Amino acid sequence: MRKNTHFFVFALLASIIFGCSDDGENYKPSYLPSIDATALPAENKPMTMFEDNEDPSIMYNKADRWFRVNEPFQVILKGKDSVQVSLYSPVGLTDVKVYAKLANYDKKFLLFNFSKVPAFHRSFHKIPLTEQKNDYLLETGNTVTIDKIDGFSSGAIEFFIESEDPLFKKIKKIKSTHLVQFHDGYHINELGKFLPMNPALAKEAITMIINYSYALSHPLYYDTFINFDRYKQEQATTAGTAINGALNWHGNAEDVDGVYDYYSKEEIEKIYWNYLDKRTVWMAMVGGDSAWGGGNLASQWESGYVTGHWLGEMSVWSHEYSHHIGFSHSSNLANSGEGGGQQEMLTHFYKYLIYLNDLPFTDPEVLKTYAKTAYVKGTYKKPVFTINPKNPFLLKYKGEGKWN
Ligand SMILES: [Zn+2]
Repeated sequence: MRKNTHFFVFALLASIIFGCSDDGENYKPSYLPSIDATALPAENKPMTMFEDNEDPSIMYNKADRWFRVNEPFQVILKGKDSVQVSLYSPVGLTDVKVYAKLANYDKKFLLFNFSKVPAFHRSFHKIPLTEQKNDYLLETGNTVTIDKIDGFSSGAIEFFIESEDPLFKKIKKIKSTHLVQFHDGYHINELGKFLPMNPALAKEAITMIINYSYALSHPLYYDTFINFDRYKQEQATTAGTAINGALNWHGNAEDVDGVYDYYSKEEIEKIYWNYLDKRTVWMAMVGGDSAWGGGNLASQWESGYVTGHWLGEMSVWSHEYSHHIGFSHSSNLANSGEGGGQQEMLTHFYKYLIYLNDLPFTDPEVLKTYAKTAYVKGTYKKPVFTINPKNPFLLKYKGEGKWN
């Protein structure tokens, strides 16, 4: 479509008057230049979050470090005239477009165009609207000219992120809106049962929770979770045995008559979405006898963060996350016994996604934490993933099922 319309938005006191004309054929818009966040001047205060040697108290500051798993590229209004841009990802992005929408103007326009954003980047940017009158590209392809606006109160400007970067497109499919933070209270109050983390481990935890949230959001996972009875039946048929343990999701242990109180289809659907809701998860690390989860807490071992998740060993994490969602050991949503519940199924599924290369991050080399001997207590080597030929998802889908 031709960009044949040119709009003007005038800011007068607190109100904006909108007008348009059809002289766009002759108007030559002058857009702001794109921004390379790998080469910013000092005034943008560029930094890398979670540098290995960063003071861990910064990552435990919940006001400074938080993100939603479906929005690892985060734009937050700071003061009245600036934004803070943060990327919670071990891999950078290219061609990130930040669109803005004003409370009293219904079209989104391109505010910032980042040609490159490096991994775990943070910087600060003056909102160009607050500096002078500028032309902006509308989402529709037209141009808008907006007068200088002195500043914005919270809610007066909204930001929307778009990118054609393949990694961004994957992340955009995540349906979970869980908010991720790190909490130091566990190891401060119960040192030994829990251990302090450091930024090198936090980067692995962030990588894992984005991958895990993608896996939970995946259509194949939804289909298997909603039809767990079918999954159990197929598993038994393939093995040539009777169904082992519970036939479907249940909330209690087997009762005296060998009967579980299976959830209805409606309840199972609701439970699925509880796993993907907007609650806050505090990621922590255990050091004692067992991992723990419940309330905001979900924890696991250093080895799970450093190498386990790259190999698809997600059983412990799935178990603790299910406690965080609210299930106890009496349910096969948080118990691997009685023929295997969600832990076993999720782990098989997660490994199948690694096999398909259908997770946002599948290369442990992006962090190389296994080699950071100064930041880990265990001894590790590079995780090398292989799939078990008897993986039930491999047997059923035979390389198909990638989320396009
Ligand atoms: Zn447990």
